[in-house]
Amino acid sequence: MANKEQIVKSKDGSLMVPDNPTIPFIEGDGIGPDIWQAARIVMDSAVQKAYGGTRRINWLEVPAGEKGFQETGTWLPDDTLDAIEKNVVAIKGPMTTPVGKGIRSLNVAIRQKLDLYACVRPVKYIDQVPSPMKHPEKIDMVVFRENTEDVYAGIEYQAGGSQAEKLRAFLNEQMGTSLQEDTALGIKPISAKNTKRLVAAAIAYDIDQNRSSVTLMHKGNIMKFTEGAYAKWGYEVSREKFGNHTITERELYDDHQGKLPEGKVLIKDRIADMLFQQVLLRPEEYDVIATPNLNGDYLSDALAAQVGGLGMAPGANIGDSCAVFEATHGTAPNYAGLDKVNPSSLILSGVMMLDYMDWRQSSALIRQALQATIKSGTVTYDLARQIEGAREVKCSEFAQSIVEHMGDR
Ligand code: NAD
Repeated sequence: MANKEQIVKSKDGSLMVPDNPTIPFIEGDGIGPDIWQAARIVMDSAVQKAYGGTRRINWLEVPAGEKGFQETGTWLPDDTLDAIEKNVVAIKGPMTTPVGKGIRSLNVAIRQKLDLYACVRPVKYIDQVPSPMKHPEKIDMVVFRENTEDVYAGIEYQAGGSQAEKLRAFLNEQMGTSLQEDTALGIKPISAKNTKRLVAAAIAYDIDQNRSSVTLMHKGNIMKFTEGAYAKWGYEVSREKFGNHTITERELYDDHQGKLPEGKVLIKDRIADMLFQQVLLRPEEYDVIATPNLNGDYLSDALAAQVGGLGMAPGANIGDSCAVFEATHGTAPNYAGLDKVNPSSLILSGVMMLDYMDWRQSSALIRQALQATIKSGTVTYDLARQIEGAREVKCSEFAQSIVEHMGDR
């Protein structure tokens, strides 16, 4: 037993995971219960199979979203946030954003309250999954999206409101602008500190995973002091913290004839609009992509579409003290309770979580079994309608099929 309380501990950036860790989960709203049941069965079976019963996850349900509101009168109870913080690692299904209740998004609130500053989205093709790309197998990227600032900080003022008028007057009278009447205003904060910790996390990941490049995605040609500074600070932190491990494109061509030296990570930057083209036309040239919040939001979903859509895309929100793994799609309310949707996004988020806990034998089993299940043509409706000859199964049957394929060669 690694520690008496059976709680995952985080110390100096490394995790200590006991054999029977308590892991909080938020089931989620809409299709949440369906995909959670499926993901849980798959994760439990993989852990059982990989470790012969010596390891087991002790799941702890914590309320949030509609269920949280019904049970506690609060959409995001403090006890839920405390439990996630205490147990270091957690997983969640999608949650409805309450409309007109003064809450922007529960997901954004969780990220901000727990300071989960990196939204990590791996995008890798799974064989046989329908894709609009000619060569989807060339796609193997991981997006590190800054999670706490940029226009998502929520500093915006309604056109004609007293705050917008006050700010407009200040800008026009004291800062030399000539903003029209009835202009809505938003503020885009991008700080050196938050940029550097995000880019540092991306580079550390790249080094740890033996990957080869980190691309800083920005729109610095237009927004020089926010997105331009983002790229500048990204290069700075790569020199300050990882000087021995990184080289820039200029160094690559000036000193190494364009050939990446063994063990080095290439740091490059690309303008956002150009990168959207490049990930379609030359996906093999991109590996880890570190980006401010809004660019990252757009890019993550666009990349997910390149490898089979949101139903297949996993994600995690990671900070220095805890991490929350999550399905990247929403609650798809029209499908709630029908046992119909694709649980792969949450299952693959579970795979990321098991990797993060260093329970890699179990995560490898799930990857292999998911691949084998899709290859056998047993899939949920979203994939079945795109794969000729596929057998459409329910969400729960798909999970069962994954369990049955564990260990197949
Ligand atoms: P959505 O992702 O819930 O659904 C859009 C469509 O995508 C669905 O109608 C369905 O056709 C398809 N889809 C989604 N998940 C699927 C799956 N697992 N398998 C197969 N098909 C799937 O997006 P939406 O309709 O814009 O949002 C619905 C609600 O979810 C809103 O309240 C929104 O705020 C919330 N939301 C939550 C999260 C989150 O919790 N992380 C993310 C996005 C949206």
